[in-house]
Amino acid sequence: MAVFIDTGFECLHLTLPISILPAFARRKIIYHGRMSKPLPTGPTPSRFPLRELVQQLRRFLPSAALLDTPEDLHPYECDGLSAYRQLPGLVLLPETIEQVQHILRLCSEYRVPVVARGAGTGLSGGALPRDDGVLLSLAKFNRILEIDPLNRTATVQPGVRNLAISEAVTSLGLYYAPDPSSQIACSIGGNVAENAGGVHCLKYGLTVHNVLGLKIVTIDGELVTLGGKTLDSPGYDLLALLTGSEGMLGVIVEVTVKLLPKPERAQVVLAAFDDLEKAGNAVAAIIAAGIIPAGLEMMDNPAIRAAEDYVHAGYPVEAQAILLCELDGTNEEVSEGIAQVRELLESQGATEVRTAKDDAERLRMWAGRKAAFPAVGRISPDYYCMDGTIPRKHLAAVLKRISELSKEYGLQVANVFHAGDGNLHPLILYDANKPGELERTEELGGKILELCVEVGGTITGEHGVGMEKINQMCVQFNSAELTQFHAIKAAFDPHGLLNPGKAVPSLHRCAEFGRMHVHGGKLAFPELERF
Ligand SMILES: Cc1cc2nc3c(=O)[nH]c(=O)nc-3n(C[C@H](O)[C@H](O)[C@H](O)COP(=O)(O)OP(=O)(O)OC[C@H]3O[C@@H](n4cnc5c(N)ncnc54)[C@H](O)[C@@H]3O)c2cc1C
Repeated sequence: MAVFIDTGFECLHLTLPISILPAFARRKIIYHGRMSKPLPTGPTPSRFPLRELVQQLRRFLPSAALLDTPEDLHPYECDGLSAYRQLPGLVLLPETIEQVQHILRLCSEYRVPVVARGAGTGLSGGALPRDDGVLLSLAKFNRILEIDPLNRTATVQPGVRNLAISEAVTSLGLYYAPDPSSQIACSIGGNVAENAGGVHCLKYGLTVHNVLGLKIVTIDGELVTLGGKTLDSPGYDLLALLTGSEGMLGVIVEVTVKLLPKPERAQVVLAAFDDLEKAGNAVAAIIAAGIIPAGLEMMDNPAIRAAEDYVHAGYPVEAQAILLCELDGTNEEVSEGIAQVRELLESQGATEVRTAKDDAERLRMWAGRKAAFPAVGRISPDYYCMDGTIPRKHLAAVLKRISELSKEYGLQVANVFHAGDGNLHPLILYDANKPGELERTEELGGKILELCVEVGGTITGEHGVGMEKINQMCVQFNSAELTQFHAIKAAFDPHGLLNPGKAVPSLHRCAEFGRMHVHGGKLAFPELERF
């Protein structure tokens, strides 16, 4: 059953039994496609003009694996960045690696663009389809292939949900560490393609640090194995290169991940502050003291109120900011660490410091943070989730500047983010029905990302560049760096068919954007005409 979860992202298209979704999501499920729209009477015409390619695809794909009528294509018109929409030319749902190889060979031969799609929870428009292309859904690659407890690895197909990996190995006392807040829905293939992060990544690393091997299919249909079950392999580190490559270098068809033993104990401390800057300084102080929390998250007042109203996590709604700091390890390590963290938080001016008494309270505290995005979706008609990273020491100053920019643009911003990583997620609240408001939001978002670059940070921490941040890539990188990116892309995909137009801007686009990175006082792209 295909369902939409109304979390503020209309196009989250999941194929899940409804029972696995948490209560908050179940309440908001709306059925889509055939359930919600009556089918037009009579056959609807295919939108895809390349009849010959379609005929060839039909020879080896079952009819249910090829969608080409508008009503079937609609669920795929966007990912979590629903401000951008485009009906794909064709949707293909292969089930075997051989089918993927065959599809890519044909697309290469016919020079048809291919956009891979996992669960479609991406927030940067990475899986936005193309009118003239194929949307290649990996939803049917949903099997766990092998669990190897001795080696502490799991080998899975790319459509397996992130959380399903931990669920499958919990009885062995193991888990998969990277935990994006979307983990009930997002796929491991999408996680690899975006190098996804999450609360645990401060201590246990991003996806790139937890993936040991990949099988990918190139645009020519070749099956390539990168890495394996060992910690290192000779040659160029193509495994790292593919991680975070946003579907532009190959299609991931198998993933081997590291599993970790579940820690003996985990405990969380909630600290409230009457001032954002104090909370920012407290984050820097915890890290500077050499403590490595299993999670260190911050929420500002609008986010606290939205989350509290939604999941009743027991948050202090008057606080200007809260920090959630989790420590894990042995009993002794955690007890000692919690005492140290409490002392630091109090010395940094926390107005309240609360330690979860038991696991139920710990999970309740986290529930508010994990549901913060959909919670904000309830208080504003639309919101735009930004994703930039800054050196932690600048947290307080950058949050202050974001609040000034929010006033300048007349748009409210809620902040909920991975503070320990310096990974900001300002959520800009807007109303797409008000003329010009989306454009103002995009401009404000751009300013926030540029602010991140100014203080030595980056324009993405975990959501990827996709369509959303493509202009800001011109601010982050100079022409020599972008040229290297294009050379790498060309080595894998000489005709530029895999997810074209995403992640790496053309030099002309940067010239048009007019915000090129000036390096060492030299104007970038001197070879390009100015206009
Ligand atoms: C409520 C919410 C909370 C979120 N929280 C977090 C968070 O805490 N941390 C975080 O990192 N992200 C978060 N995200 C963003 C998103 O869930 C991640 O980027 C996730 O990794 C996307 O996975 P997906 O399966 O949905 O990929 P999709 O959205 O389908 O695709 C994402 C990109 O990966 C490519 N891709 C997908 N599958 C493949 C494949 N098999 N081979 C090659 N390329 C492929 C696509 O072309 C696209 O470029 C959140 C999203 C939502 C909606």
